Amino acid sequence: MVIMIACNQCGKCCKKYSNGGLSATKNEIEYWEAHRPDIYKYVRNGNIWLDPDTGQQIELCPWLKKLSNKNAYICGIYNDRPEDCRAYPSTLDEMILDECEMIETHDLLNQQQAKKTLETLMAVDRYPNL
Ligand code: SF4
Ligand code: SF4
Repeated sequence: MVIMIACNQCGKCCKKYSNGGLSATKNEIEYWEAHRPDIYKYVRNGNIWLDPDTGQQIELCPWLKKLSNKNAYICGIYNDRPEDCRAYPSTLDEMILDECEMIETHDLLNQQQAKKTLETLMAVDRYPNL
């Protein structure tokens, strides 16, 4: 039986956490400062996704882009996104709480197997599609 489907890029996780729920490491911020000023301008006092003009937290991550012809999203800084984003989804409980669309009914009925599948998926490629 197939347990847990691939990320369908629904964007729920980015929408939920981008308003102050994400962090970046010191190294990531230093890298952005040196090589990605377009990203660094959304950093203020070590916090991420602050409006460059007002310094206020942005409601929705500025890098979340909706695909024009379908209800799906991509990350505009995929290769340079913070580790915090790469680490999602980290636990089955988190996915259930967030209504992550990788989970199907059979995962809820067989949570031990779903947890093992998640570990395998994340060991290969964290945050596989978005
Ligand atoms: S940086 Fe990318 S992965 Fe992280 S919240 Fe924004 S769009 Fe999502
Ligand atoms: S990881 Fe889950 S919540 Fe996030 S985009 Fe993929 S299916 Fe949606």
